Amino acid sequence: MIKYALACKQGHEFESWFSDSLAYEQQAKRGQVECPHCGSTQVDKALMAPSISTSKRKARNAFIDGAKGGAPVQEPEARTIASQSAPLLDDKQRAMRDMIRDLHAKIAENTVDVGAGFVEQARKMNDGDIPQLAIRGEATIAQARELWEEGVPVMPVPVLPEDRN
Ligand SMILES: [Zn+2]
Repeated sequence: MIKYALACKQGHEFESWFSDSLAYEQQAKRGQVECPHCGSTQVDKALMAPSISTSKRKARNAFIDGAKGGAPVQEPEARTIASQSAPLLDDKQRAMRDMIRDLHAKIAENTVDVGAGFVEQARKMNDGDIPQLAIRGEATIAQARELWEEGVPVMPVPVLPEDRN
């Protein structure tokens, strides 16, 4: 079984299990892979960002390494939101931040931190060299994309805008 992060044409992201990568390709081609949010069958593999990280400093560095040019991707947007006074937007941003915090806590609870060994461990696990285990660690966007192309299921974790400072 293999888990894919998918996204529909509307940008909804979701995950789905397939027996193997070929099964995914066939089902997707036949329009049997459906977005659970809007029912669209126009889905594709979601683009991977750096995987889970516990060290905020390292996460930021990994992110910057991965993003060519070195600019943290979320920062300008976060600043724009912060400078606006619309209360609705503030509430939304707060809710988003709480959600990401919860996500981080859940991930920390349920995965083993392998730090910089993430890419190697994930690859070994996928090859069956070591037992399957939920792990978190650091990877650059390029590394995560490589893993993804090899069929290794990896999941990006958003970093809180305030953690980037
Ligand atoms: Zn959708």
